[in-house]
Amino acid sequence: MSGTRAVTRSIRLRPRYRQGPWRVAGPDEDAFTRTVGAVERLLETRSTPREVAVRKLHLVGAPEEFAEDALPSALGMESLAVRRYAASPDGASAAIESAGHPTEGEGVDVIVGLDAPSSEERRSGSATVGLLVEAREGLRLEGHLRVPGRHGSAPAAALVLARSASMIDELPRRPASIWLEFPGEVPAEWTDLWVARAAPGGWRSFAPAGDLGKDAATGLLSLVHQARQEWPNGTEGIVGVVEPTGATLLKLRESASDRSGAPPPEDVPGALIELPTGDVRWPVRLDAVSEGAYVPRASYLESLPARWRLLGATCGVCRAVTFPPRSRCRNCGRTDQLQPTELPRRGCTVAAVTTIAPGAQPTEFDPQVALLGAYSVVIVEVVPGVRVTAQVTDAIAGTIALGDRVDLELRRLYAMEGAWRYGLKAVPTDAVTRSAPARG
Ligand SMILES: [Zn+2]
Repeated sequence: MSGTRAVTRSIRLRPRYRQGPWRVAGPDEDAFTRTVGAVERLLETRSTPREVAVRKLHLVGAPEEFAEDALPSALGMESLAVRRYAASPDGASAAIESAGHPTEGEGVDVIVGLDAPSSEERRSGSATVGLLVEAREGLRLEGHLRVPGRHGSAPAAALVLARSASMIDELPRRPASIWLEFPGEVPAEWTDLWVARAAPGGWRSFAPAGDLGKDAATGLLSLVHQARQEWPNGTEGIVGVVEPTGATLLKLRESASDRSGAPPPEDVPGALIELPTGDVRWPVRLDAVSEGAYVPRASYLESLPARWRLLGATCGVCRAVTFPPRSRCRNCGRTDQLQPTELPRRGCTVAAVTTIAPGAQPTEFDPQVALLGAYSVVIVEVVPGVRVTAQVTDAIAGTIALGDRVDLELRRLYAMEGAWRYGLKAVPTDAVTRSAPARG
């Protein structure tokens, strides 16, 4: 089996916010926080999270200003290598090809697809897709077809469709499953034609996957995710994205029977949080300096492991956990037996909660309150004797109660000294929306 690398885990994270009819990323999320969240969730689906080395992180569709340098600190992987790919089906397929390419060395590759950061042109739901690739059985890339087309018009799209149908026709073995996404405005009669052309070939299923999100890069990765979730062992099939300017098709084979550890592909029901239309980012100047909780940049950077990953210190003598970590055990005072420990951040119990009404917030949260109004703050007990305070996000203010469970996730806090400051916020555990796309 050496040399065989395949997708063995996959997730699709959907944001909790809505703007008009579309799911959009929350105002305290950006490409950095969404990437960190996706990698963490993906590694948690393994039986031995964190003990595995990530060889390379393949980023599809990350914007120019992406805070790549901060990824190793946020993920606790000091030697992490990052590769970037264009926000297009070609970029997505290049990432899958590169991650699946057999090379020497242990470890996993992670692919993260982010949809386009600008919301102006987007007319579909937002999603982050994560794929884990390793030297095991799973969903394997067997081939890559690129169907060129001309720019712009519906006839060009029809040409692409016709050409993609004949390319599939030329395959030595007929695929058992074909899922294509049509992100552009492709007239129904042309897709009908495609189906008519495909049907005589005896393929078992054809799915114009309309609900996948029309951002083409995450669209293709979403199809791979969905195939990993749903294709029975042994399935050979095609997933692809057809655009007026060409089609990208992947030939895949599912060869694993064991899917234990994969998260259930479900969308948690419940109301989405409505955002005002227009730009949803905090309306702040990055050079603004808060009069409130001013933390000098040097001490902020120094304390990142504690702030971002809840890195504390466990005493080897009395087992007490000291957080934030200090050079001395808070319980027995020993200084020579402290071991760095990442404290749990999932399903923490709310021990205290308060809601901050507009006007009562520290000044660094003014822009946030102007956009979203009141917010809640909780104290959670992460391990016995260690309590952490966090702002609640992805929830309507006042809806969190004592005893509820929250996850601590990295989000934007506020701008200070010309840059965003990030930290952990509390997300209701039930609001985590891991989902496979809904099927029509
Ligand atoms: Zn101790």
